[in-house]
Amino acid sequence: MSENCIFCKIVAGQIPSKKVYEDELVYAFHDISPQRPVHILVIPKHHLTSLQQATPADEPALGRILSVANQLATKAGSPGGFRVIINNGDIGCQEVQHLHAHIVGGDQPVGPIL
Ligand code: 5GP
Ligand code: ZN
Repeated sequence: MSENCIFCKIVAGQIPSKKVYEDELVYAFHDISPQRPVHILVIPKHHLTSLQQATPADEPALGRILSVANQLATKAGSPGGFRVIINNGDIGCQEVQHLHAHIVGGDQPVGPIL
């Protein structure tokens, strides 16, 4: 756990979240400010700032994020498909410094970004 990381605190239960899935590697919850009818965040339980810091040791959690995406999107109400978006670093529009995949769907997107 990283000090002052809000997503580490969500995993630890120190900040409330609307959890939709959890296993030994990842934690998934509703985005606090949804941009689409379905907008879920999936994060590694261990602190990883972004893909800029990822190493082979992170591969189990990164793989799990992708392999649970379909079941989460479908259960949340996006049966016809969904998008997975990971922002990395300042230029990559990342605001929260704990890697998170946005699972978005539920309607037709208006453009290539969220
Ligand atoms: P980023 O721009 O870093 O890719 O996206 C950060 C996302 O985290 C945003 O969509 C924002 O709404 C969401 N977010 C920020 N703080 C919280 C929080 O405390 N709880 C939840 N559930 N989502 C958050
Ligand atoms: Zn963290």
